[in-house]
Amino acid sequence: MRVPAYHSSNQSDPDIHHNHSDCPTGQQIPAHNKLDGTGGYPRCKQCVSKG
Ligand SMILES: [Zn+2]
Repeated sequence: MRVPAYHSSNQSDPDIHHNHSDCPTGQQIPAHNKLDGTGGYPRCKQCVSKG
């Protein structure tokens, strides 16, 4: 489902943000690395295709 934008604080993760809780890439971000907002990054392609 659609959620507010979030991204990873981990430098080794791709420079993208997510807005779906069921995004496979977004789900790989551990809770302690999850930050609110876009981080100024473009939206993840998988999230874009989910709408
Ligand atoms: Zn995503």
